[in-house]
Amino acid sequence: VLAVKFHQSFNDSSMALLVQKFGGTSVGSVERIKSVAAWALDSQLRGDQVVLVVSAMSGETNRLVSLATEIHPIPFSREYDLLIASGEQIAVGLVTLAINAEAERRGLLKRGAHAYQARPFLGHQLGIRTDSVFSKARIQGIEVSELREEISRGVIPVIAGFQGVDAENNITTLGRGGSDTSAVAIAVALGADECEIYTDVDGVYTTDPRIVPKARKISKISYEEMMELASLGAKVLQIRSVELAAKYRMPLHVRSSFSPVEGTHVIPQDFLGKPLEQVLVAGVAADAHQVKFYLSELKRDPEVLASLFTALSDAAIVVDVIVQDLAMNQAAAVSFTVSKTDQLKTREVLDGWRERENPALKILEKGELSKVSIVGVGMQHHPGVASKMFQLLARAGVAIELITTSEIKISCLIDGSKTNDAVAALHTGFGLDAV
Ligand code: ASP
Ligand code: MG
Repeated sequence: VLAVKFHQSFNDSSMALLVQKFGGTSVGSVERIKSVAAWALDSQLRGDQVVLVVSAMSGETNRLVSLATEIHPIPFSREYDLLIASGEQIAVGLVTLAINAEAERRGLLKRGAHAYQARPFLGHQLGIRTDSVFSKARIQGIEVSELREEISRGVIPVIAGFQGVDAENNITTLGRGGSDTSAVAIAVALGADECEIYTDVDGVYTTDPRIVPKARKISKISYEEMMELASLGAKVLQIRSVELAAKYRMPLHVRSSFSPVEGTHVIPQDFLGKPLEQVLVAGVAADAHQVKFYLSELKRDPEVLASLFTALSDAAIVVDVIVQDLAMNQAAAVSFTVSKTDQLKTREVLDGWRERENPALKILEKGELSKVSIVGVGMQHHPGVASKMFQLLARAGVAIELITTSEIKISCLIDGSKTNDAVAALHTGFGLDAV
């Protein structure tokens, strides 16, 4: 269902099929919604065809989540998803109304014609099919024939992000920030030229500018780097959206809905230039909501880790860093981290697993940790990046709890209270500060 070819459209200004995703702050008020409507119509008048994907108005999903949480602390279920998906319906309704009102005001609506009219679509109306993992559902396919027909008539589709429908017609949601993934999936399914992600910042930065005022906007970054940055706490894009974009080589453009300046292009690595020209470290990320579980007195049984982590994954818990060390002549121990949102569920799953499989197990838990990471495709070709990172952290007085690496990333788990110091030290030390 999802098939696309790659168009290098970010270099040419001719007509294009653009999916424009507007996040919560971009539709956060009637004023903002009116400016989204004007922007969409301006794009259409330039000759581009736009398809809009919108999130709930800012704060709305949080409001719904806290209502649900007041009733039950771990409410992931069909009811919960139906509830928290509703914010997008409001936004879609308002944006569609705003485009039609603006088109009317500009005299663009011709009798009997469809051009410049907006049409709202909820996930299920578009056949956005997902699996049934409530609150973390994955898109399996999108019915685009009706969408294509509307596009060919010049209609502006306005689609609810974040939601889909499973095989039993239950409403599902894609995880917090999931509208990004909706937008990319729709762009891929339509074979769009580019997926524009409009947000309240003007691009992806080398690190969080609120922590390091000297952070710089990145003009181009590879999917791989963006994925690491997104998974490491640079909250500008949902990670699944970047994975999907990478898989289908869909160019992303992260940009501001408050100003027309160029944002950050997220593109295939082979468009970044030769390995030796690439920057060593593209960005520094921090994820402040990490919880470490330390399990000791694990059974000496080759199956034990498989059984433990299967129990966690069956509960859809995303385990991040895993460190195991079989100390000689001692019972085995393992450490792993999860995000704070999965802390409660992890505790429950571990208690259940201990009762069934390993009554002697000891469980220790440590919250308020942060993971700071440096990311860059260039580090694949340069030695000494890790040692430099450890030096910089040591000089900033930051102790390291756990270390994990990939080809293009090094992460250290540290005390949460040291996050800002660590990020600033790494940003300066790796030459990322703006001049
Ligand atoms: N409204 C949803 C959320 O707040 C989806 C999104 O914004 O992308 O998580
Ligand atoms: Mg978002």
